[in-house]
Amino acid sequence: MKHNIFNTIAFRMTLWFTGIFTICVSVVFLLFYYLATQTIQNQIDQELSDHASKFSAIIHTSGLMGARQLAVLEAQAAGEKLIFFRIVYPTGEVFASSRMSYWKDVHVSKSALQRLSTQKNIILETIEIPSTHQKARILYSYVAANAILQTGVAMDVYSKFLSTFKLVFVSSMGFIVIFSAVSGWLLVTKALSGVATIIKTAQNISGSNLEARVHGTGNKDELDHLVVTFNSMLDRIEELVKSIREMTDNIAHDLKSPVTRIRGFAELALVQEDNLEDYRIMAANSIEESDRLLDMINTMLMISKAEAGEEDFIFKTINLSDMIREACDLFAPLAEDKNILFFNEIKDPIFVVADIRMLQRAFSNLLDNAIKYTQENGEIKTTAFIEDQTVIIKVSDTGVGILPEFHEKIFERFYRIDSSRTTSGTGLGLSFARTIVRRHKGNIHVISHQNMGSVFEVRLPINNLKII
Ligand code: ADP
Repeated sequence: MKHNIFNTIAFRMTLWFTGIFTICVSVVFLLFYYLATQTIQNQIDQELSDHASKFSAIIHTSGLMGARQLAVLEAQAAGEKLIFFRIVYPTGEVFASSRMSYWKDVHVSKSALQRLSTQKNIILETIEIPSTHQKARILYSYVAANAILQTGVAMDVYSKFLSTFKLVFVSSMGFIVIFSAVSGWLLVTKALSGVATIIKTAQNISGSNLEARVHGTGNKDELDHLVVTFNSMLDRIEELVKSIREMTDNIAHDLKSPVTRIRGFAELALVQEDNLEDYRIMAANSIEESDRLLDMINTMLMISKAEAGEEDFIFKTINLSDMIREACDLFAPLAEDKNILFFNEIKDPIFVVADIRMLQRAFSNLLDNAIKYTQENGEIKTTAFIEDQTVIIKVSDTGVGILPEFHEKIFERFYRIDSSRTTSGTGLGLSFARTIVRRHKGNIHVISHQNMGSVFEVRLPINNLKII
């Protein structure tokens, strides 16, 4: 599948990374800018206030004439382009000033004088000198009862700092954006490289290559967990595909025999001479085989429905002891035919909430198997009792037994041990029994050794059943 780079996680994460990084750096820059300009301005304001105090003191000792001299001297000392002093009357009329050739565009602000008379004893404002476009900080302050000092200082340092700052900001921002984009891309693509391997493996896996696995990094990180989970999912899928294949083979095999037999009967009927009785026998055999087929298909459907929870189970309080006894009575004649000692030990009474029809089917399958796979003169015993909050039902026989490797497999649909294939059966009985027991929140398993008989044990938890 072709994919657009703009849709990749790596691209989106790089974008986020670059964006966040740029915003953070910008915030730091702006904060620094704000603090630096505030500090510079405070320093300038302090300088201007100090001058005002100096003028107040000189007027106090030497009068306005002293202030006039001070204005000229102070401006000369600091630089006439850097600072100016004007002493004005409250009306705005200028009494004296330093040399104003550079500052001639800076006038006495009427509104500042107005505000000074009504509100404060100091007014500070920032203006731009029209001719030079230079910024200047201006202070108005009463230095005597009838004299106001207007002093201004060029904000050279301030402007220089601002332009330097702008230069640094623009050039470093360019570098930061490129740096964060490249480093973000490298980091993200490295972190996601494991995902690319998983995608590649997943693409490689087809029906015939289910063995492919992803190699983990062993870092025990999220990707390593993903790899482990992905591999175990593949194990499970491989197992399922294998069991589906086995099941299909088994179905094909088990359906083939009755169909072949039905075909045989039909062929025989074709070549048969006109003998009505023979036709009848062949028709009856065909019906019998067809019934077997139908029974098999119906059981298969029922298992599927029960497993999917679609088969309606009718749960009622039933007497389990009676149900088992009745089933044993039903199978006793079959056991008797093989001269099998068939008996039960059932504790009385065991009441449970269950679907009697379904439990009967499960239990019949166990009894039927016990009789089928036990040789003549054998022994079959059925017990039912309660232990550790669990109802336990056991069907034990002294039959052919089952090798340990088949203990789980025999519960799979259509699985029949090869040695049993000579015996009639569909391979669905135990699978159906397990589905039914599981719907009752219980379980079923076998304890067996070859040639030493088998014990099929059904366990139904008491807390899911009502036992009186
Ligand atoms: P079926 O009996 O129709 O073959 P089941 O699902 O009932 O199918 O049983 C599956 C397989 O388990 C049987 O084919 C048989 O090989 C084995 N099995 C079941 N019950 C017994 C038993 N009591 N003793 C020995 N083998 C058994």
